[in-house]
Amino acid sequence: MPGTSRLPVSLREGFNTVRRRSRAGWDPSLMLNLDLIRNIVFFLFLLRWTRRALWKLKGRGLLGTLAELYADARRALYGLFLRMPGVRTQVRKQVDEALSKLQTKMVPANATRYLTLPKEGWAEDAVRKELEALATMDHTRWEDGYVSGAVYHGEDDLLKLQTEAYGKFTVANPIHPDVFPGVRKMEAEVVAMVLSLFNAPPGAAGVSTSGGTESILMACLSARQKAYVERGVTEPEMILPETAHTAFRKAGEYFKIKIHVVACPAPSYQVDVKRVARLINSNTILLVGSAPNFPHGIIDDISALSKLALKKRLPLHVDCCLGSFLVPFLDKAGFETVPFDFRLKGVTSISCDTHKYGFAPKGNSTVLYRTQALRAYQYFVDPSWSGGVYASPGMAGSRPGALIAGCWASLVSVGEAGYLESCKQIVGTAKKLLNHINTSPALSAELEVLGNPLVSVIAFRSRNLNIYDIADGMTARGWHLNALQNPPAIHVALTLPIVKVWERLAADLEAVVEAEREKERARLVEGKKVQSGGGDTAALYGVAGSLPNKSVVVDMAKGFLDLLYKA
Ligand SMILES: *Cc1c(COP(=O)(O)O)cnc(C)c1O
Repeated sequence: MPGTSRLPVSLREGFNTVRRRSRAGWDPSLMLNLDLIRNIVFFLFLLRWTRRALWKLKGRGLLGTLAELYADARRALYGLFLRMPGVRTQVRKQVDEALSKLQTKMVPANATRYLTLPKEGWAEDAVRKELEALATMDHTRWEDGYVSGAVYHGEDDLLKLQTEAYGKFTVANPIHPDVFPGVRKMEAEVVAMVLSLFNAPPGAAGVSTSGGTESILMACLSARQKAYVERGVTEPEMILPETAHTAFRKAGEYFKIKIHVVACPAPSYQVDVKRVARLINSNTILLVGSAPNFPHGIIDDISALSKLALKKRLPLHVDCCLGSFLVPFLDKAGFETVPFDFRLKGVTSISCDTHKYGFAPKGNSTVLYRTQALRAYQYFVDPSWSGGVYASPGMAGSRPGALIAGCWASLVSVGEAGYLESCKQIVGTAKKLLNHINTSPALSAELEVLGNPLVSVIAFRSRNLNIYDIADGMTARGWHLNALQNPPAIHVALTLPIVKVWERLAADLEAVVEAEREKERARLVEGKKVQSGGGDTAALYGVAGSLPNKSVVVDMAKGFLDLLYKA
């Protein structure tokens, strides 16, 4: 046997046995082992895919699964169509045209542009003059209450105090607590105040972040790490209401967490908790509810989600970024409310934006955890870096101490009484607007408010008109409302600046609806079919809503992002 003469004795024996047995018609034992391994691998592979298929069927039902497959196929086919040579150039041309129109609006051509450092630094007065010009560039007037959301307080007294707070801590950075002990103290106190507002139990903990998105990213990261460390989950999944803020989908992309989106059907527009339950499997790391959500201002059934989370022993995040300092005051202000905070035992984390109805300067938010252990799952620690042992609580390294000072100053200067009063005013005005839409003869027949909004956002759709034409009509009158999709709707997020002018908002809305109805009648007389007025919102969402594959919208949006950096 020339080939095997140099093999170790035991192996040689093995080969010989194989040969002998093969000759005798036996199953070769070595082959048997290989076969066995192959079978096991195949079996595991099969198990994995069968399990996935079963999860899918359980989660979405047979019809739901088929519908998803159909939508996927349509998207893929339409994607191929868009990439066909003739079509691609045509689409590119239209996207470029739309973007160049947008550019003339966003980037004024006649302004002096500064594209390199000035050779010599400017005199202070020159800087001041230019800053003044920048601050007063032609813009949608939030100062007069024309903007939905965006600026939540905006009164001069608070702005002045915040600016003073910044000024005292311009150089401060909480990464050096020994150098800036005051900032460390303020940051800890901001978190403590928010924890107390949300009825956190003893042992609860939190961190401050740069905004709601970062708070949500951190809560998702913590849940992912917890599941990995405690349950060995390597293919994490989370279940979101479709109305949950898109920051959760961002977390999915950034942290490789698979997303399941659950419908929030009419008439309540709350997440369908039964469907959430069906989508839970051993890879689930987090359930999510909003209090309230951004699109419709609706608070999900957090009590039911909490029960489900407890039963399945899963973390539940409540997104209170928008609800922030309003929802905790609803009860005391005498408005209808529902349970939403740590008093529900299943709630394990809450995001609350101090820079929304907490009236802090932009760049401030908090994420709260039921336990310190949950918080520690978002920490980053590197014990072996050549730059020294490094530890930071969240995404950022250095952070602006000035913003923390601005936040702390806002919280202590407004105080409980101030937030209660703002809640009365803002939510009170939301109720008035809601009531107006539901009862005014001009509006009630045409507009339909989505669900039962308990806080500051009122979303509505149109029964017969194109709601985006109404949005464009409001824009023409100087208003900036938010366009929504699935279903087509718009919303107003009430703020203190809007409280003062809500009656004008209501009157303008009536006028715009009346004008659109008039146009519609004229179209009908001429026998034309329903057609949008072709304003910006109508054009964008007309395209976005009708396409099975939204890659054109993605191209447009990327072009828009590029424009943000067009100097
Ligand atoms: C605003 C908002 C967020 C995100 O907050 P940013 O501060 O914009 O990052 C998250 N959830 C809801 C419900 C919000 O309204």
